[in-house]
Amino acid sequence: MKKHNFSAGPSILPQSVLLKASEAIVDYNNTGLSLIEISHRSKEFVDIMENARALALELLGLEGKGYKALFLQGGASTQFLMVAMNLLEKRAGYLNTGAWSAKAIKEAKKLDDIYEVASSADANYNYIPKGYDVPSDYDYFHCTSNNTIFGTQMKSFPKTSVPMVCDMSSDIFSRVIDYSQFDLIYAGAQKNMGPAGTTLVVIKEDILGKVSRDIPSIMDYKLHIKAGSMFNTPPVFPVYTTMLTLEWLKGLGGVAAIAEENEKKSRLMYSEIDLNPLFKGFAAKDDRSMMNATFNLTNDNLKETFETMLKEAGISAVNGHRSVGGYRASMYNALPLDSVKALVEVMSELEAKA
Ligand SMILES: *Cc1c(COP(=O)(O)O)cnc(C)c1O
Repeated sequence: MKKHNFSAGPSILPQSVLLKASEAIVDYNNTGLSLIEISHRSKEFVDIMENARALALELLGLEGKGYKALFLQGGASTQFLMVAMNLLEKRAGYLNTGAWSAKAIKEAKKLDDIYEVASSADANYNYIPKGYDVPSDYDYFHCTSNNTIFGTQMKSFPKTSVPMVCDMSSDIFSRVIDYSQFDLIYAGAQKNMGPAGTTLVVIKEDILGKVSRDIPSIMDYKLHIKAGSMFNTPPVFPVYTTMLTLEWLKGLGGVAAIAEENEKKSRLMYSEIDLNPLFKGFAAKDDRSMMNATFNLTNDNLKETFETMLKEAGISAVNGHRSVGGYRASMYNALPLDSVKALVEVMSELEAKA
C-alpha cells in the first residue's frame, strides 16, 4: 500500500504520473523504444521538451510576456552561481531567510559584491524579515519564496525597481501569486514537479546581456534559450516526468485549483499544531509555510510513542531537518488531503493517550 509520504524532497508525485512515467521507461507511446534510449533530437523528445516549457509558462500565467522557460541540470544549487554569472555586474541585494538563501549568497559572493538586505539568521530563521529596502542601483534582488528547512514562506514580495530573482524550489505552482513580478524564477524539480535531475528556470529575456564578463557557455542563459533548452543533452526522463506532472496540474484546473487544496491541507495541519498542547510550531505564525510545516513535541518523553504510532499509520518522512530538529510535514501539490488527515489523527490520538 502507498504510504503517506511527507518527504521534503525528493518528494511525492501523483500516482498517475508515476505509472505513466514507468511505462515510458519500457516502451514510449508504443514506439518499441524506451524514452531513455532515444535521441533527445528525435521528434518524440523535442515535442516533450516544447510541451513542458510551454506548460510551465502557461501555468504561471507568463505566456506572451517576454519570458522563456528552460529545463537545466545541476539543481537549484547551480542556479546560485548561474544567476550571479549572468546578472551580477557590481552589486546585488539578497534576502537571507534560510540555509538555501545563505548558500545562494555564498556562491554569488565568489563573483562580486553581495549585500544582505535583511536576515533572520539571528533567530534560526524562524521568521521572514520585513521592512527592508532594496537600493535602486543594484543589479538585482534575490529572495527565497519558501524556506523548505525552516517552514517559513514569503507572503508578499517587495516592490523593487531592480530585477527580482526568486528561488521557488519548494513552492512553485503551489499558490496564486503574480508571477510576473519576478524577472527570474528557478526551482529544482524534485519538490513540486518531478524527479531530481532537472531545474526549471523562467527568465524574462530582456534582463540578459547586461554583464561584461565572458560567461562560460554552459552557464549562459542566452545560449540555453537560443538552443531551445537543448544546449547539450537534457535530462530526458526528469523533463518527461515533469511534463506529466504539469499536465496533471493543468487537468486539475491549474495553480488556482491546487492552491485551494493546499490551503485546506495547511489549515488542517496548523490547527492541530496550534490546538494540541503536545505540539508547538517552529515558525512565526504570520510567516508559516503552506508547503512545509515544522513543529516539535512539547514533551520529549513522548517521542518514541509518537514515532511508533506514525509508523503504524503508514506515515513516512515527517522527521525534521537536522538544523531545526523535531518534525516537518511537507505538503507538496501531490500530497492528498487524506494524508494530512491521517497525520492529524495520529497527533490527536497521542493527545488522548498522554
Ligand atoms: C532543495 C532546495 C534547494 C537545493 O536544490 P538542489 O536541486 O538540491 O540543488 C535550493 N533551494 C531551495 C529553496 C530548496 O528547497
